[in-house]
Amino acid sequence: QIDKYLYAMRFSDETLVDIMKRFRMELGNGLGQDTNPTATVKMLPTFVRSIPDGSEKGDFIALDLGGSAFRILRVKVSHEKKQTVQMESQVYDTPEDIIHGSGTQLFDHVAECLGDFMEKQNIKDKKLPVGFTFSFPCAQTKLNESFLLNWTKRFKASGVEGMDVVALLNKAIKKRGDYDADIMAVVNDTVGTMMTCGFDDQRCEVGIIIGTGTNACYMEELRHIDLVEGDEGRMCINTEWGAFGDNGMLEDIRTEFDREIDRGSLNPGKQLYVSYQGDPRSPRSCMHHSLPQISQPHCCHSGRHPLQDFGLTKNLPAHLLRYARRLHKTVRRLVPESDVRFLLSESGSSKGAAMVTAVAYRLADQRRQITETLAEFRLTNDQLLEVKKRMRTEIQNGLGKKTHDNATVKMWPTYVRSTPDGSEKGDFLALDLGGTNFRVLLVKIRSGKRRTVEMHNKIYAIPMEVMQGTGEELFDHIVQCISDFLDYMGMKNTRLPLGFTFSFPCRQTSLDAGILVTWTKGFKATDCEGEDVVGLLREGIKRREEFDLDVVAVVNDTVGTMMTCAYEEATCEVGLIAGTGSNACYMEEMRNIETVEGDVGRMCVNMEWGAFGDNGCLDDIRTEYDRAVDDLSLNPGKQRYEKMCSGMYLGEIVRNILIDLTKRGFLFRGQISETLKTRGIFETKFLSQIESDRLALLQVRSILQQLGLDSTCDDSIIVKEVCGTVSHRAAQLCGAGMAAVVDKIRENRGLDQMDITVGVDGTLYKLHPHFSGIMHQTVKELAPKCNVTFFLSEDGSGKGAALITAVGCRMREQEES
Ligand code: ADP
Ligand code: MG
Repeated sequence: QIDKYLYAMRFSDETLVDIMKRFRMELGNGLGQDTNPTATVKMLPTFVRSIPDGSEKGDFIALDLGGSAFRILRVKVSHEKKQTVQMESQVYDTPEDIIHGSGTQLFDHVAECLGDFMEKQNIKDKKLPVGFTFSFPCAQTKLNESFLLNWTKRFKASGVEGMDVVALLNKAIKKRGDYDADIMAVVNDTVGTMMTCGFDDQRCEVGIIIGTGTNACYMEELRHIDLVEGDEGRMCINTEWGAFGDNGMLEDIRTEFDREIDRGSLNPGKQLYVSYQGDPRSPRSCMHHSLPQISQPHCCHSGRHPLQDFGLTKNLPAHLLRYARRLHKTVRRLVPESDVRFLLSESGSSKGAAMVTAVAYRLADQRRQITETLAEFRLTNDQLLEVKKRMRTEIQNGLGKKTHDNATVKMWPTYVRSTPDGSEKGDFLALDLGGTNFRVLLVKIRSGKRRTVEMHNKIYAIPMEVMQGTGEELFDHIVQCISDFLDYMGMKNTRLPLGFTFSFPCRQTSLDAGILVTWTKGFKATDCEGEDVVGLLREGIKRREEFDLDVVAVVNDTVGTMMTCAYEEATCEVGLIAGTGSNACYMEEMRNIETVEGDVGRMCVNMEWGAFGDNGCLDDIRTEYDRAVDDLSLNPGKQRYEKMCSGMYLGEIVRNILIDLTKRGFLFRGQISETLKTRGIFETKFLSQIESDRLALLQVRSILQQLGLDSTCDDSIIVKEVCGTVSHRAAQLCGAGMAAVVDKIRENRGLDQMDITVGVDGTLYKLHPHFSGIMHQTVKELAPKCNVTFFLSEDGSGKGAALITAVGCRMREQEES
């Protein structure tokens, strides 16, 4: 007879795996939007999003209601060299008549005990943060708002179910009026247990209680939690697994004893799984009759210390140890692919509430500081209008005869007097020097009814030592690349007209003469500044004595971009580059360009707006991070606007912010890795990847990991926010500059309203997921009288240079005839 009874209670692994599968299904049902209402395992969100990181500190109070005793603790977490926790606690009675009385009585009692505790601790005048361990199924809506679903265990106070227990407690405290408390968090005892262990070992991400009742919680990916908005990061889920089986799912394994116990309980038909695990009257748990008194919560994690290694184990009665061992063995057998370790949590449920509160406190403080740091990058509309206004002033200074010499935005004349008219034709060579790569192109333009442009090109790298070597080496290298290209095309013997796209500030005196004013971006070759770059190129060709070319035009990439776009779309009279650097050009009235003779018609001016701010006029919006990037650049103090909004620098700004946030302990566990210290490691293309809307947080994390930045999910959220803030400001600043330009053109023409097209090129503009959109929006808001269309220019530096060369050839022929 006895054997028969006991036999039904022994499960084979097969049965256990089967139960595990049912369990897994129920977990899924609890998490799902549609399945949750009927799910038995409710999978309640706890709004606990982080486990402790070891930097918490402060003075906290914890209330622990719902375990075998009502306990109040004071937890002091301090930080001298090492984090230490100091606790003082007191157990209070909760008489049977209160447990079964009215809710008001219950919370009055809790408030009274808290008052007594504070009195004894001599802290009645302080408003300490309080964590409230409330170990019943609750629907939590915030960390400090939690509605009791139903009482369990021996509690049954009336008028509490469906109510927010924080509000009830606050009401009771207020009614007394003799002290104040800031209830920051309500936690379930499972969560408290996990957090307590998580405090000692950050790999602890699961909590289990096996005591009066049984329950578990774990860190779930937010994207799996339908009931909570957002899908970035994690949140602790209180499974309330005690209810597993309430839909009959465990009927096949329930014995007549289990049914008997259930019938005699306060909540028949409910919490069936609990009675398997720990009800003192259940025949099976008779073997473990002292379990409830000991009420030792367990916490499992994937760390080092199996329970057996713990000195603690010697304090456990033998049969309890047997229970624990059997639990560990079973878990390990059923999930052999996971390395699960168990860690015993001491006074977990109550201390944990303080830990949750401490983490919440730390996160709130951290959040405030991060927001404050990034706030400097968030420009108000007024600030942007101011930037637009200042750009307008600098434009004026660059154009004016008297002001030009001291102007920062130089407004260089380009000697390009009109946009293409469609009659351009011929074969041209184009060179594109100015950013990451050097390109040589052959451009064949056909006019007439069917206008076509055919292009062949080859890309050549310019090694860093050439970019920053001597001018002669640089131009020899360029000529060497041209030679290779001509061989490749089989065109060494034709003397082609050439357009030289040279994207640096040049003082032009004619279409084919441009004196380099100053190198920018990554270039620093000697003996070039102050020289005519067309001359340098011609000399290089001569030195090689291998081929001859007819250099017709030196072209800025902005101008090439505008021309390419204008070839398709006649209203295009502005060019914009958002790539390695940042710059713009537009068709200005000759009468306004005081640095060139003549008042008739228009000429394209290369603004060289990257230098905007070099006179200090943007200093009020530059941050310490901008200054750090500037200080470490090749050209300190120069190109200040460019350094706030172009591809070469955005990643560096981000890196500098990340270093600072790490130093302050908000990122990467406060550890500044060698990677993070490496200049240039955080390329702007990573901003594009990280900010992509299609990317889940885990992918962000893996990008950071590829970069050698060992990040948590929380880190990834912050990094993404930093990237977004920096690129947002870049796009807005670029938009403010553009707004100044289009409004000037509109005023030049005396129009109330104007339609205009801007030709744009640059990888930042093309590939960043948000840059272009934000830039467009900013222009719209800051220049409402202009209807601006942005036109992506494909290969402006090549095609545009050829078009300008074609125009140049035509002009030359006209002059000669
Ligand atoms: P350049 O301006 O050098 O002529 P590009 O317009 O191609 O050439 O810009 C190259 C710059 O664009 C790189 O230096 C880098 O800063 C930036 N960049 C490269 N890839 C991306 C990307 N995926 N998203 C945003 N910016 C990028
Ligand atoms: Mg370019």
